[in-house]
Amino acid sequence: MGSRVARGVLLLALVIVQTGCGPRSRYHADAPVNQQVPWGSAAPRPPGAPYSGPVAPPPLPAAAAWGLSCSADSQCLLHRCNAAAGRCSFPCQGPADCATGSICMLGVCAGIPWTANATPQVPPQGAPGAPPLPGVDYDYRLALKLSPVPFSPWAGDELGSPHLRDVMSHTQDRWPMQNGGPSTAAHETLHQIHAEMGNTTSEHDAFVYLEQGQGAFVAEPDLVLARVRDWVPAGARELANSRYRLYLIEQAKSFTEVLYLFDEWGAYVGNGRVSVEQARGGWYQAGNYQVDEVDGMVDFLYFGSAAMLAVRQLEPAYFHGNEQLKAVFAVLAESTMRWYSEGIRVPGFQGFHAEELMAHFTSSPENAPIRAMLREWYGSTWTQRLFGFS
Ligand SMILES: [Zn+2]
Repeated sequence: MGSRVARGVLLLALVIVQTGCGPRSRYHADAPVNQQVPWGSAAPRPPGAPYSGPVAPPPLPAAAAWGLSCSADSQCLLHRCNAAAGRCSFPCQGPADCATGSICMLGVCAGIPWTANATPQVPPQGAPGAPPLPGVDYDYRLALKLSPVPFSPWAGDELGSPHLRDVMSHTQDRWPMQNGGPSTAAHETLHQIHAEMGNTTSEHDAFVYLEQGQGAFVAEPDLVLARVRDWVPAGARELANSRYRLYLIEQAKSFTEVLYLFDEWGAYVGNGRVSVEQARGGWYQAGNYQVDEVDGMVDFLYFGSAAMLAVRQLEPAYFHGNEQLKAVFAVLAESTMRWYSEGIRVPGFQGFHAEELMAHFTSSPENAPIRAMLREWYGSTWTQRLFGFS
């Protein structure tokens, strides 16, 4: 990965030279995305580790539970009825599976908030057609303000991952596939998209690309990134040590924005998703290596959560009532759980620290403050559905 690092440093230097005092560049060329080790050498910690929480969280509701029979679109809420199959098109694969005026996001057809009228038309998550979840679930789709990202056709081979094509088709300055493969290309290209979108506004904000030409801006707090490290519990610092040191200590010396963590989080979700999609079809190639493709997103679930606790405590006027921050955190958390839950079952992605870190997140005593913050912010139905704690 040395060449990636060298190229990253070069790119960063070029960006600095090119932009000078002009528009802010927010391209963060970072160090290696993933760790890889020879097969068989990545192994979870032995039994007796101090955390005894669930090893893996419950997966999001399975398609089988939601693939309701239908004969007309109206029975599928925002999804279309696949008449040939006699079932609602869930999870959706693209816009063709969704009703006009909605988009397919994370497998669920969602209303587009800026065109929705004042009365929410979007069913709560857990839908369509599913029995209502107990209590009141949080639905980010009702609050999330999306922004379109310009389409830029890409002639490359998606190699089993529609999300790779999606990402690579939303900037002209895409990372070369030959430099690290599809996972790295997706990760670094997402940073590029985030930077380009960030440069379209003079606001002090961050941008996170989601999918299908849609992403979201979030205003930055005044808090500086370096303060966040103290809010990550000691056990999590240890488990996520390499990325904790890289992003919360080393990078925090030069990058001050707290939501740089969302930039990275979105990039890690993206590269993990690409790898999982590739693994589904047998496209993933790592030779004789195991690769921690889904560990990065779990690290950033933790770092991002710690950042939210920090801003809630230190900058309450920014945090409270900030519906866009709340919605963007939620969509990152939901997509993390979706792709982690599937990806951690891929043998080549197992054996690093993600499972133990997730157990620490959901059940360790020292993470109780973050769990309490999430419960208060979203409600226990949401935390139970997503993480298995209430
Ligand atoms: Zn990165």
